[in-house]
Amino acid sequence: MDEGLKLETSENPGSPCAIIRPGGSSKGRSEDNPYANALTQFDKAVSHLNLKRGVVDMLRCPKRELSVNFPVMMDNGDIRIFRGYRVHHSVVKGPTKGGIRYSPNVTLDEVRALAMWMSWKCALMNLPYGGAKGGVIVNPKLLSSRELERLTRRYSTEISVLMGPESDIPAPDVGTNPQVMAWIMDTYSMHRGFSIPAVVTGKPVEIGGSLGRTEATGRGVGFCILEALKLRGIGPKNATVAIQGFGNVGSVAARMVQELGMKLVAVSCSKGGLYSGDGIDLSSVTRHLERGGCVTNFAGTDSISNEELLTLECDVLIAAAVENQITSQNADKIKAKIVAEGANGPTTPEADEILSEKDVFIIPDILCNAGGVTVSYLEWVQDLQAFFWPVEEINRKLQYLMAKAFENVIAAAKQFRVSNREAAQILAIQRISDATLIRGIYP
Ligand code: NAD
Repeated sequence: MDEGLKLETSENPGSPCAIIRPGGSSKGRSEDNPYANALTQFDKAVSHLNLKRGVVDMLRCPKRELSVNFPVMMDNGDIRIFRGYRVHHSVVKGPTKGGIRYSPNVTLDEVRALAMWMSWKCALMNLPYGGAKGGVIVNPKLLSSRELERLTRRYSTEISVLMGPESDIPAPDVGTNPQVMAWIMDTYSMHRGFSIPAVVTGKPVEIGGSLGRTEATGRGVGFCILEALKLRGIGPKNATVAIQGFGNVGSVAARMVQELGMKLVAVSCSKGGLYSGDGIDLSSVTRHLERGGCVTNFAGTDSISNEELLTLECDVLIAAAVENQITSQNADKIKAKIVAEGANGPTTPEADEILSEKDVFIIPDILCNAGGVTVSYLEWVQDLQAFFWPVEEINRKLQYLMAKAFENVIAAAKQFRVSNREAAQILAIQRISDATLIRGIYP
């Protein structure tokens, strides 16, 4: 083999897959880097398994990465160049699945980490997918609707070499929504000459979206919290809840926990948050948001910072914003008894250790927010068979799959004497490793 092409392994430093060594102690390890954090978690989970070295090295690396720089015509006639990514982490168990993020903070390492977590999440939920993620470095709030549409159509075209209902199926994530998915579906369909709804999920219902998809992630978060409260012997009635992030996941989770009888005491968005010990009136906050506000400066509540929200006295903290919010800097100040990871990667490995010493019950991201990809899977299945189910059917299937995964994680945590996160990753990684070896290494 040509030395230049040799894939170096984690035992062979210098490889892109070995930037971080087991235990996460090697030079270059940064708590701020989501991919470094994902690899540290991976190495920890793998240390409990007896996997083939080559399979471990294969799973440390994304399968393929696409970077695109592309032009967009702005409303004023200027041409601006944007950078986007699409990363496939694993293609062993089926087509790849994962959201598309529009944010000025997108980096390739962030997309790699999110793609890896998607592989674990799909395997944990027993969905026939590998993990993927995409992102564009852009603040969508600074673009007009026409500019956003042109950016989306061009980015979709750029990544269409990877995308397809049998190869790679995007979905919404931070900064994207059902309308963006509709533009992706339309662009892909126009290139093929006929409608292909199964190419994306999280679409509007009018064009093949699934009933219950918008609420699915928040619904799954609510379900996991109920189960965690039971395990901790806390009654849901009046259990207090604080939520960081009030987007798709956070706002639906807020509604769910209130419907389950819990008391929502704080919510936040990127600019800050609000607190009310008597409970927050969700309908007026939502109306305020629909008028274009953030969840700050709201009558009858106290304004708080995101940092203050994370360290509030409460039973449940739902982290539903972005990665790296609970870190070595603030983990010891967290007072919640349960941390529900609505977001992907909100807790760093350093913070994990601190929370574990404090006996905080963590519902790990790949379980807690898996309701979204689960109903995305149901949407894809409905699109492929062109037959659609009522929302009761969707919610029943979601509840069944979430309950099974939750039960499996708790059982694995006991069996391996590990944290819930390690248990969830152990189950997922073992399944992908088994599938890899059953398929065999081509040729
Ligand atoms: P969104 O864009 O709808 O909302 C994000 C929210 O977080 C907004 O309220 C924003 O103001 C806030 N926010 C952003 N940065 C913040 C910061 N630094 N501090 C505090 N708040 C901040 O995104 P979403 O779809 O709700 O996704 C939120 C998280 O959930 C992400 O980690 C995403 O990957 C994950 N997730 C989303 C889905 C889904 O179905 N949308 C599914 C699984 C996981």
